[in-house]
Amino acid sequence: MHIDVLTLFPEMLSGVFNSSILKKAYEKDKFSYNLINFRDYTKDKHYKVDDYPYGGGAGMVLTPQPLFDAVDAVVKERPTTKPRIVLLCPQGEPYNQKKAEELAKEDHLVFICGHYEGYDERIREQLVTDEISIGDYVLTGGELGAMVVIDSVVRLLPDVLGNKESAPEDSFSTGLLEHPHYTRPANFRGMKVPDILLSGDHAKIEAWRRKESLKRTYERRRELIDKHSLSEEDAKIWNEFNNN
Ligand code: SAM
Repeated sequence: MHIDVLTLFPEMLSGVFNSSILKKAYEKDKFSYNLINFRDYTKDKHYKVDDYPYGGGAGMVLTPQPLFDAVDAVVKERPTTKPRIVLLCPQGEPYNQKKAEELAKEDHLVFICGHYEGYDERIREQLVTDEISIGDYVLTGGELGAMVVIDSVVRLLPDVLGNKESAPEDSFSTGLLEHPHYTRPANFRGMKVPDILLSGDHAKIEAWRRKESLKRTYERRRELIDKHSLSEEDAKIWNEFNNN
């Protein structure tokens, strides 16, 4: 996978790319990336990338020319791929694990990070394939959103996570929130690890984890569950919670 990020503040992203799993994955050639300042593409003699909104009102609007030209350039550089062009935007589709899994199958992702009041509408209409929001709040710019999406996508690429950080058991990947975890010591300030986890009985541990995972999802995010897709065993447990 290759990732291009079009931003006015590339320095905001380099720290994240240079840490933890993203750094390791890059060093192991699991993906490549370019941070591109789209101001470099402006044809304005004062290097402007924004302008006042037609019709008046507060804030500045990103002009189409620098972004259209920057996207043309990154697309031309990889003629054999058909990139997904992702606009970070509070009005976009709410981001989730399913979308991360979908994007992780692509060869080439281009992220456009906005700033100021917003974008010229023609960018949204003609340039992008996806609009993503990372939540119902407004950030100053799209950079933090792009990093959220990139981090969650890259950790799904083949051989990026080792056993230590495995993804398939993570919350949302299974459709449920993950079960609780415990590590040493078995008794910390009188707070004991559940006996079953020390029993060595793997079948019972698995059953306990499944039940805890269902319980946590029931208590915190009931709307995640499509009751018709629960196995018979899971449905029995779910109904027990309902009846209590
Ligand atoms: N005026 C815009 C509106 O009301 O929809 C908000 C613009 S915001 C200050 C500037 C930029 O931050 C946006 O263009 C977008 O790139 C990014 N941004 C802000 N909130 C975001 C969110 N929840 N998800 C993704 N990107 C966001």
